[in-house]
Parts: sequence; structure tokens; C-alpha cells
Amino acid sequence: MKENRGLLVGRMQPIHNGHLQVIKKTFEEVDELIIGIGSAQLSHSIKDPFTGGERIMMLTKALSENSIDSSNYYIIPLVDILMNAVWVSHVKMLTPPFKKVFSGNPLVQQLFKEENFDVIIPPLFNRTELSGTEVRKRMINDGDWKSLIPNSVVNIINKVNGIERIKHLSQKEISEKIE
Ligand code: NAD
Repeated sequence: MKENRGLLVGRMQPIHNGHLQVIKKTFEEVDELIIGIGSAQLSHSIKDPFTGGERIMMLTKALSENSIDSSNYYIIPLVDILMNAVWVSHVKMLTPPFKKVFSGNPLVQQLFKEENFDVIIPPLFNRTELSGTEVRKRMINDGDWKSLIPNSVVNIINKVNGIERIKHLSQKEISEKIE
């Protein structure tokens, strides 16, 4: 039975090569990794264009593309709750037991530190390009978004007409601002 288990939570809108690198790095420190898909209830906005289900599909295919053994991770959708003070209990209720938490997000770090988890801040890989904000910006502006994400994720975004979706949403949000 593997007991050295860790948690990494991310909105992953969408999954990009930075997420993949950090996931590979965490496997140097844990036997099993729980990957929480954060804000799983959100979709169809410029900041959160993809559904929880689409992100689960993207992550599953990206991990397989990178030959990561599926017996070593769990992908769990995590819906946000309004109460930060009890969020760690909410996450614990939905996940297998874990001792280590990997996060670059200050709020996530703070909440788990206060509950005495071993919080590890992973190194950032090429953060200027490898960020969800940059990928989404390039999708809207016809930039090169494909080089920032795994090929399997490009395929899923094409299948769900993701570029059309985010471009349309960006028009909608601009017209709402003007009104
Ligand atoms: P994210 O997708 O921006 O990042 C996920 C992780 O990937 C981060 O820890 C970051 O360190 C890592 N990462 C991203 N780019 C990287 C790069 N280039 N190189 C290396 N690592 C990189 O997601 P996030 O914002 O950290 O997600 C936190 C989630 O937790 C959100 O969905 C948030 O809503 C949720 N949350 C909810 C509550 C609540 O419901 N009350 C409270 C706290 C957090």
C-alpha cells in the first residue's frame, strides 16, 4: 500500500506544459498524486472557458501522452465553496488521504499550512509563457497557443470547438462592457 501521497490543485484552464512539468516533478517526491481540478463548477467564461469534465479529459489524455502510469494518480473534480476556512476539510472529504501539498498559489499554501500539512512550493517553469492567462490570450488573438500545451489537449480543444467558444465569449463580454 502506497502511503506517500500528495495533492496538487489547479484550475487548469486549460492544462499547459507548465502543469505537466510540475506534475512530473512532484513524482520525484511522492508515490501517488491526487490532482484536484479546481473550480470544477466553472465554465464558459474567458477566465474559465472549459468545463470540469473537459478538463478531466484533457488531463487524462495529457498524462497518458506523457507516459505517466494511471495507477499512480487520481483526478478529482473540486467544486469551490464560499468558506475558505473550511475548504481543506471539503478537499479532504473528496480525496484519498494525503500528507503533502504542492502549490504555487498563496491562498492554497496558507489554508493547508494552517491545517499542518507539509506544503511544498514547486519551481515555476517559463512562467511568462506557461500560464493559463497567456494561453487564453493567444487563443483569443490568433497567437501560437498550441506550442504551450500538450498535443492531446490541442485535439480536445479542437473537438469541443474551444477556440470558437472563447472568441465568442470574449466578444460577448466586450459588448456587455459597452452596454
Ligand atoms: P492554476 O491552474 O493557476 O495552477 C495550478 C498549479 O500549477 C499551481 O500550484 C502552480 O504552482 C502550478 N503552475 C502553473 N503554471 C506553472 C508553471 N509555468 N510552472 C510551474 N508550475 C506551474 O490553479 P490555481 O489558481 O493554483 O488553483 C487553485 C484552485 O483552488 C482554484 O480552482 C481555486 O478556486 C481553488 N480554491 C478554492 C477555495 C474555496 O473554494 N474556498 C479556496 C482555495 C482555493
